[in-house]
Amino acid sequence: MADRIIGIDLGTTNSLVAFMQDGAPVIIPGEDGLNLVPSVVALDDKGNPVVGNAARKYLVETPERAVYSVKRLMGRDLRDVQDELELFPFRLADDIAPGEVLRLSLGGVTFTPPEISAMVLRQLKRNAERYFGGAVTKAVITVPAYFNDAQRQATKDAGRIAGLEVLRLVNEPTAASLAYGLDRRKNGTIAVYDFGGGTFDVSILKLHDGIFEVLATNGDTHLGGDDIDNLLIRIALNDIRGDLGVDISRNGEAVQRIRKAVIEAKIALSLADLVKLEVELPDGKHYLREITRPQFEALIAPVIDRTLPPCKQALRDAGLLPSDIDEVVLVGGSTRIPQVRQIVRHLFQREPHCQLNPDEVVAAGAAIQANILAGGSGATKEMLLLDITPLSLGIEALGGVVAKIIHRNSTIPASATEHFTTGVDGQTAVAVHVVQGERELAQDCRSLARFDLQGIPPMPAGLPRIEVRFLIDANGILQVSAREQRSGQAAHVSVQPSYGLTDDQVEKMILDSFDYAEQDIEQRQIIEARNETETILAALHKGRNGPAWQALGSDEQRAINASEGHLRTLREGGDYKAIRAAIDDLNERTTRLAELMMDTAVSSVLQGKTMATADVGDDIAAPHPFAAAEIKST
Ligand code: ADP
Ligand code: MG
Repeated sequence: MADRIIGIDLGTTNSLVAFMQDGAPVIIPGEDGLNLVPSVVALDDKGNPVVGNAARKYLVETPERAVYSVKRLMGRDLRDVQDELELFPFRLADDIAPGEVLRLSLGGVTFTPPEISAMVLRQLKRNAERYFGGAVTKAVITVPAYFNDAQRQATKDAGRIAGLEVLRLVNEPTAASLAYGLDRRKNGTIAVYDFGGGTFDVSILKLHDGIFEVLATNGDTHLGGDDIDNLLIRIALNDIRGDLGVDISRNGEAVQRIRKAVIEAKIALSLADLVKLEVELPDGKHYLREITRPQFEALIAPVIDRTLPPCKQALRDAGLLPSDIDEVVLVGGSTRIPQVRQIVRHLFQREPHCQLNPDEVVAAGAAIQANILAGGSGATKEMLLLDITPLSLGIEALGGVVAKIIHRNSTIPASATEHFTTGVDGQTAVAVHVVQGERELAQDCRSLARFDLQGIPPMPAGLPRIEVRFLIDANGILQVSAREQRSGQAAHVSVQPSYGLTDDQVEKMILDSFDYAEQDIEQRQIIEARNETETILAALHKGRNGPAWQALGSDEQRAINASEGHLRTLREGGDYKAIRAAIDDLNERTTRLAELMMDTAVSSVLQGKTMATADVGDDIAAPHPFAAAEIKST
């Protein structure tokens, strides 16, 4: 049989795994018999990961051991996630610098978003392995069409950490269209309306000769079924305050029971005209209320209406009118609500596709794509899925301006080449700074990578011909190479987003993940504590060699030395709690030293001195940004 490749929908709220069997996609259920695996991860008291429905109870009982919606943090930087942090109880490690990979705390241990997603993926992989009775190592994973390079990289990393070779990342709307077999109609335009648990996405796709192209995407990253649940919860809390005279809005367990009941009621209302919302409160009191379909519809209309402006904007961006759309596809659990179908029907003036389960279509499409890649039966070689780059890609040229090389909305895979030259006589190295975004200045764009092209023979400014080539593969991942044509000197990077994970980190995570499946989490705690020890000792070493140390009183110096000695004796031992306490102690005693060091650093910058950086080779002329003089573009 052909290679076994699974299709995975790695969702914000729910994830699924599917496989093509006898010409049709089949969703593979979990141990609990359910198809949907909630994207919730917890650590049990032994430190072992728990995923899905089993992890949900931790959200209430020990919320510090559980996390959900981690897709929101994938491939994102501290600066990107402010709005998420306000709305979601993510516990980020407190020492993350802007530009660093985020780390979340789970039961006192920190994990990056790809590691947490990997736990979900590993569960799906296990479900598939149980189903097949054999190993599964290859997968196709879906991502939102608007995911940028870093978010796609992070998703691939998560797959690798979970022990899956990710053969292809497919856009979710494309997968849904495949599930409906829309590729068979060869030409036309498709609108995919995806209303899930916490996010709303709309995509306009164009099909030409059976090839999908994303024309436009839009949406609201904070709009979904959760908003409907919250409205119903608020009503119940109000009722309970009024009728029963108790305010239970701060009682976590009570609110959780209400949440469970309102979700059941909401789901029942998609079929019934009247439901009973019934909750047994922890204090033995009983809450009951009837909700009719018209009442429900009036309540949620404002939430549902918020999906309309993004749809209209996407149409405008694609240069289309609603009447230009040939097919409308419904995706996401919240499109089961009849009223949602109604407004979609009304907007596009046509009957949307909803014969398939809207929360399963993306996984089904992923399975179809997996089957194509496996060369399975029914798969045609010509079935190509083309997508677009959501943002422009370019490099920083002289003066900090961006020279765009691949423009946004280019169909991928794509490649483009531009030529640059030097701005200074005798320049032997250039720094290539790869950025993503639409703004004019590199500092306003997302920095993706930096690398140096060295060893250019000294020539007058403007003479070297430096060819920079960008290649985006079918997954939307970028490779950049630069070559000086007169000397043949070349440099190349597979773009590792600045705030993404390096290959080494991923390798380490893969190893770690094997370990900690069996190992006690304590081991990890010890390693982390030791790593932190190294960091603080290194910082202290730096401080001692600078002027700030001299500014301290001898008492302060002595106290720091004693605290340091204590930490050094503990660090190789296995008592991570003691190591942490010693770290805290040293941190406290070095507060003033750190402040003084910071002052010196700031004043040296103010005086125009650059701080020494250790990683610049002394024998190389300082890399100079490219001159904007552009000779030729292809
Ligand atoms: P995501 O893509 O965000 O991971 P899903 O597509 O699985 O999420 O959608 C989950 C949402 O769909 C939840 O808010 C859930 O309550 C809602 N949902 C599922 N079934 C129904 C239904 N029959 N009626 C209304 N809402 C539903
Ligand atoms: Mg989804």
